[in-house]
Amino acid sequence: MSLYTDIVFPTAVRRQFTYSLPDEFKEDIEVGKRVWVPLQKHKKIGVVVNIHDESPEFNTRPVQQVLDEKPIISEELLKLTEWIHHFYYCGWGEVIQAALPVGLNFYAQKYLKARESELPNFLNDDEAEIRKEIQQSESYLLAEAQKRWGDKILDKLVGQKVLEVWEQPAMKMDPSTDKLWQWKGKESRKKAKRIVEEHEEVGKNYKWVRALKVLLDLELPEFQKELTDFEMLEYYTLNRIAEEGLLTYDEVETTNLSIKLEYDPSQLNTLNEGQQAAFKEIKKSINKESFGSYLLYGITGSGKTEVYIHALKKVLEQGKGGLVLVPEIGLTPQIVKRFHLIFGDDIAVLHSRLTDRERYDAWRALQKGEKRIAIGARSAVFAPVQNLGLIVVDEEHDMSYKQEDPAPRYNGRDVAIMRAHINDVPVVMGSATPSMVSLYGTKKGKSEYLELKKRPFEAKLPDVTLLDLKQYQSAMKGPIAIPLFEAIKEAVERDEQAILLYNRRGFASYLQCATCGEIPECPNCSVSLTFHKSKKQLRCHYCGYSERQPRRCKKCGKNTVESRGSGTQQLEEQIAELFPDAETLRMDFDTTSGKNAHSKILKAFGRKEADILVGTQIVGKGLDFPDVTVVGVIDADTELAFPSFRSGERMYQLLSQVAGRSGRADKEGKVFFQTWQSDHPAIQKAKEHDYKSFARQELAYRKMLQYPPYSRIIRFVFKGEQEGRVRRVAETYTECLTEVLGSFDSVLGPSPAAIAKMQNFYRWESFIKINPSNGASAIEQMLDRTFDLFDDRKPKGASSVRINVNVDALE
Ligand code: ADP
Ligand code: ZN
Repeated sequence: MSLYTDIVFPTAVRRQFTYSLPDEFKEDIEVGKRVWVPLQKHKKIGVVVNIHDESPEFNTRPVQQVLDEKPIISEELLKLTEWIHHFYYCGWGEVIQAALPVGLNFYAQKYLKARESELPNFLNDDEAEIRKEIQQSESYLLAEAQKRWGDKILDKLVGQKVLEVWEQPAMKMDPSTDKLWQWKGKESRKKAKRIVEEHEEVGKNYKWVRALKVLLDLELPEFQKELTDFEMLEYYTLNRIAEEGLLTYDEVETTNLSIKLEYDPSQLNTLNEGQQAAFKEIKKSINKESFGSYLLYGITGSGKTEVYIHALKKVLEQGKGGLVLVPEIGLTPQIVKRFHLIFGDDIAVLHSRLTDRERYDAWRALQKGEKRIAIGARSAVFAPVQNLGLIVVDEEHDMSYKQEDPAPRYNGRDVAIMRAHINDVPVVMGSATPSMVSLYGTKKGKSEYLELKKRPFEAKLPDVTLLDLKQYQSAMKGPIAIPLFEAIKEAVERDEQAILLYNRRGFASYLQCATCGEIPECPNCSVSLTFHKSKKQLRCHYCGYSERQPRRCKKCGKNTVESRGSGTQQLEEQIAELFPDAETLRMDFDTTSGKNAHSKILKAFGRKEADILVGTQIVGKGLDFPDVTVVGVIDADTELAFPSFRSGERMYQLLSQVAGRSGRADKEGKVFFQTWQSDHPAIQKAKEHDYKSFARQELAYRKMLQYPPYSRIIRFVFKGEQEGRVRRVAETYTECLTEVLGSFDSVLGPSPAAIAKMQNFYRWESFIKINPSNGASAIEQMLDRTFDLFDDRKPKGASSVRINVNVDALE
């Protein structure tokens, strides 16, 4: 009996490729292993997703080699990736690639091998020589061969089937190391002290001496990675001090040393009554060892994390493991600390700062069962926790759970729910501001609603002051109203700190009337219109509605309509001018693109190197500074200008995060929202800390307009370098969608995207709203039919236009 294997590759191609299986591999082959197979002129790495004896109608080529001794992915995870492949309409291999770390995925280096053992007679001397060398070395790194002989001759030899290209799984096995700095010898520390004192006496101000002073406050030895978090301690300053003979370092492997947190399981708190009640419900599923979905609602500080910890502990006692998803680990170091305190080395932390090697090691440790709990951001949903017993999704509403680009465009929270189904284990989702989708799910019986009603310590929620910008127009100090200015001034004088938030996405610009605050909206979609400056036009990026740039405000008739864009930097400058005696720090997209930039800025602020932190909404997440007593949101309502039906929900989430935070510290906090729309329900409800009544209104609005959770939105983005082609493809494809869906109402677009051109690619988009009861296979069939239809009608040049499908798009 002949055997065949179905293989996937890490591309957007959604089909599987069938290869025949030579007898010699019948023992070794297994689903989830990597194999070498011929594909065009290459030998490619593929992953086996199926083994069968159905002979296909076409001729098959044989598998060349089985690459793994054990499957790189377990059956349950393979099933999960398959579901994503169907549900999010992307390549199966693409999902596997995203799910696994380098070393266990398709990531490969290319090698050249000589094909036949006999020397072909059509080669000239040079070519024969190249072939000989490559044959002798068995395999030759392609990049090196290209450097040595050039692409042209190699391409020719590959074309003539003299040479062929093979992929080798890449494994970056170099351990990661870091310099561990310490004082050189016994006397250095004293000597350093003396130097600092001497310099201070004579008023000298060398940078390395100032750095020395910082070092004296720290405990050495310490890793360079940690030291350079201090502004004064650049690596060259450390070297300078070493030159003085005061410091020295060892190069140390960091792989197993990355966590140096406190471990003391006796510090587990006893749950209070409310927590007990919630835990009791979750325990039902844990005891039954079966699926159960829970939405745990409670304001920040109400003790949700404590409930997760107790549930995890229960699961570990059953001899099982747990998976904890958090939004962005760089922003939430406290939560890792809390888990580490109780579970110690049982934890594998998967964050974006890990090197390939560290990620691979963490993966292996989980696979082998050496670590039983994985904590990480979105892609940790694929962590190979053994004998999984529980999944926790903290801050389930967070946008960062959704991967937007590139594919697979999955939502980590929803994948977590599916994983819980596949593994038949409970999933607990927690939030202070549950997403409308999850909240609606509790009403539909998809998950159970649990609530923590009060904070364990009766910390008071801060009073929120709304500053109506319409009223304060003549009482502003630059960008801030006088009451906020006064509060910051007082805080700085008392040596306390302030945070100013600039709620701005900074890419779509829009118009706003400077007199009344009116922002033009689409008459069809109730989302704000995007301002296209070059065309002097306002456009709806959902339905394509457009109008000319108005000269006068439609509401108040004044000619004070201004365009709004981004500008955190400008804000920081203005603030610095207003408070000349205060130090300011800025945190936004520009300042946080570096690898550790986030935590660097936050740590510096935590050490009180600055009095005022100015930043975009990323500042609003997961921060807890005891000395921050004033938090101001400069423009609480800009979120509403963002062209999305979710803007009210987002604004509420952000504002309530801000309002919740400030009350955590022992000092009483003041919160200010500057707004043009002080009567907007999201702002009012955030001020009153009233999530439930906000959610009621928001759900009613969604229902009326059939937005999620009352529908499911799929977004199609068409991208290409020639605008005409992009538009034609968008139009034709959207026609096909309309035909397949059969009802015009649910298809919106096509229209230029909010950012109509990005990196020289024109972007158009369309949306569809479909019934939320549609599952993976219904969505897949619908899209398959659309693509089939589109294939028949493709306009000219369609192949140069990419079509991205984004199921459950968040934007
Ligand atoms: P959330 O996750 O909802 O923001 P946390 O679980 O972090 O809330 O709890 C807030 C604070 O209250 C933490 O410092 C935590 O240690 C403390 N805490 C929570 N539950 C208890 C409890 N049952 N007993 C004592 N302290 C608690
Ligand atoms: Zn519209």
